[in-house]
Amino acid sequence: RRLESELEDIRGAGTWKNERVIASRQGPHLRLAGGGAGILNFCANNYLGLSSHPEVIRAAVEALEKFGAGLSSVRFICGTQSIHKDLEEKIARFHQREDAILYASCFDANAGIFEALLTPEDAVLSDELNHASIIDGIRLCKANKYRYKHMDMGDLEAKLQDAQKHRLRLVATDGAFSMDGDIAPLREICELAQKYDALVFIDECHATGFLGPNGRGTDELLGVMDKVTIINSTLGKALGGAAGGYTTGPKPLIDLLRQRSRPYLFSNSLPPAVVGCASKALDLLMESNAIAQSMAAKTQRFRSKMTAAGFTISGKDHPICPVMLGDARLAAVMAEDMLNRGIYVIGFSYPVVPKGKARIRVQISAVHSDEDIDRCVEAFTEVGRKHGALP
Ligand code: PLP
Repeated sequence: RRLESELEDIRGAGTWKNERVIASRQGPHLRLAGGGAGILNFCANNYLGLSSHPEVIRAAVEALEKFGAGLSSVRFICGTQSIHKDLEEKIARFHQREDAILYASCFDANAGIFEALLTPEDAVLSDELNHASIIDGIRLCKANKYRYKHMDMGDLEAKLQDAQKHRLRLVATDGAFSMDGDIAPLREICELAQKYDALVFIDECHATGFLGPNGRGTDELLGVMDKVTIINSTLGKALGGAAGGYTTGPKPLIDLLRQRSRPYLFSNSLPPAVVGCASKALDLLMESNAIAQSMAAKTQRFRSKMTAAGFTISGKDHPICPVMLGDARLAAVMAEDMLNRGIYVIGFSYPVVPKGKARIRVQISAVHSDEDIDRCVEAFTEVGRKHGALP
C-alpha cells in the first residue's frame, strides 16, 4: 500500500516516466512497437551513429563467437581476456593517457573513483549540476565535500581557497552537461586548479568521440589535454552505444582502482560482444575524424535553422540542443505532437530541470541527413505555432 501511494504521488506530480518500446535497431529512423514506422529519432545519445554501424555489429558478432557470451567472473578472478586488455590500451591511446580501466558502465566508474582515491584528509569540489552518478560517487567517499555554483569560477575559487587546509583537492565536473548542452570552462578550471594545487576530473560521457578536432573530448576542444588528470567516460553513447564505462589517467591511479574500486572488484567483466563494439568504434574514430566533423556540421544546421525560426536553443556548438519552452505542459504537449508528425523528441521538466525551465531536448547525430534535420525544424515550427510557442 505504501508503494502504491508513492506511485500515485509520482503520477499526481506529473513526473511519471513512460518507456516507449522500439521494435527496430537504434538509429535515425525507428519503428515503434505496435505501429509507427519511419519515426525520425532525435533523442538518442547515438551521436556518431555507430550503434548500428555495420562494422561495429560485425566486430561484436566476431568477438561473441571467438570469446563467448561472457566471463561468469569478475576481472581479477578469471574475467580478463586479451580483448579487455586491448580495449584498455586503446582507450588510453585515444585519450593520450597512461592507462585505462574498464567498468560495466560509467555510472560504476563514477561510483568507484572518489572512494578509492580520496580520504577524510582530502577535498572534492563538484559542480552543482554534475550528473547523478558523480553525485552518488562523491556521497560514497569520506572526503570533505564542496559544491560550487554551476560553471561559476568565482565560487569555485572561493571554495578552493577554503579547501587549502586539506591534503589533496579534486575538482570534478561534467565536460559537457547533458541537460543544457553547455560545456564546462575547462581552461579556467585548469588555471584555478594550477593556482590552488588541485587535480581536475572530467566526466566525458557527452563529449568522447565527437568534441574537439579529433573527437577526443572537451579537453581537446579547449586545449587542456595535458592539464586534466582523470577522465571518466562511457562506451554506451557515441562509442558504439552498447554499454560499459572507463577511467583513464595516470598509471598509479588505474593500478589503485584495480585494487580498491568496488564496482570493478565486485561486478562481472564486460561481455566480449560489448568489448568488440567499443573497440571497433575507437578504431573507426582513430582512422578518421570525418564522422565527428559531419556531426558538428549537422549540429550547426539544426541550431541555426531553429534560431532563425524563433526558438531559443540552450548551449553552444553541442549536439544536445535543448529547445527552451519554460512551461512543463507546453513541453509535454509539443513533444507528443512532434511524435504525431513522426519526430521522436522528449520533453523535460521539473524535477529533471529547474522549475520554469522546461524544454524539449533534441540530440543530433552524424547519421541524420540534412533532410531529416530540415523535417525536424519544419515540424517544430508548425507545432510551435499551433501551441503558441512561436508567434
Ligand atoms: N555521466 C553522465 C554525464 C551521463 O550522462 C551518463 C549517462 O546517462 C553517465 C555518466 C552514466 O553512463 P553509463 O550509461 O555508461 O552508466
